[in-house]
Amino acid sequence: AEDELAKAGWLLNMQHLSLGDKIGEGEFGAVLQGEYMGQKVAVKNIKCDVTAQVFLAETAAMTKVQHKNLVRLLGVILHNGLYIVMEFMSKGSLVNFLRTRGRNVSDGMDYLESKKLVHRDLAARNILISEDNMAKVSDFGLAKVDLKQEDLTRIPVKWTAPEALKHNKFSTKSDVWSFGVLLWEIFSYGRTPYPKMSLKEVCEKIENGYRMEAPEHCPPYVYALMNSCWETDPGKRPSFKKLREKLEKELRALQEG
Ligand code: ADP
Repeated sequence: AEDELAKAGWLLNMQHLSLGDKIGEGEFGAVLQGEYMGQKVAVKNIKCDVTAQVFLAETAAMTKVQHKNLVRLLGVILHNGLYIVMEFMSKGSLVNFLRTRGRNVSDGMDYLESKKLVHRDLAARNILISEDNMAKVSDFGLAKVDLKQEDLTRIPVKWTAPEALKHNKFSTKSDVWSFGVLLWEIFSYGRTPYPKMSLKEVCEKIENGYRMEAPEHCPPYVYALMNSCWETDPGKRPSFKKLREKLEKELRALQEG
């Protein structure tokens, strides 16, 4: 594989590479930001020689493909194992992107909470992304009006707290319930909550204490947060302030590895 790569011009020169901050942790080594001949790059370093050989073979395959939606490989450097040099993706991984949006939302809701404003329709479809990738809470359509009984058909059942559904008791704490569902949407990459369940079924099951399972690969701390949002007693649910602080803390820990 090494000869093949060298012949095709994929072997890069270590002297042209400068390494910067660590931006991620891969299964086989750290991912660092760097610069190669003036271009911003991401560099994966695989120190273990055996693994490096496997990766080298895989990289050879990567040199044969190019597409606007595939991360571009610049080349490899054989030095302390293997360096894989690729195009730098400034916004990072999709997982990280989504998780950070959750924190943005809790931040916005923390502000609404401080203003004693109730949203009533907090759901992923009402979170919009700005040019600079900031998540912003939108659609205050239901926020101002006092819902009358006949409006109840407009209520997004799968996002609404039981006391709001049953007794029209909307509050910041019912928004917190919805935030729990929103977290579930984020961590299941946009699935509809309570998959394959009818609205009637959802109401009955929630009443009997049923709660959604954790989405696949959802960190336990996030699932614990969701469940705290889904406490039957609104008073036991956390505040948005608390939620924001917790998400912030955990995200920081994640980023610091
Ligand atoms: P592995 O496949 O070895 O487990 P990944 O390719 O998943 O490693 O990289 C780990 C993390 O490093 C990613 O989640 C991402 O945050 C960061 N990363 C990887 N490649 C790039 C890139 N080209 N640009 C920016 N960040 C990257």
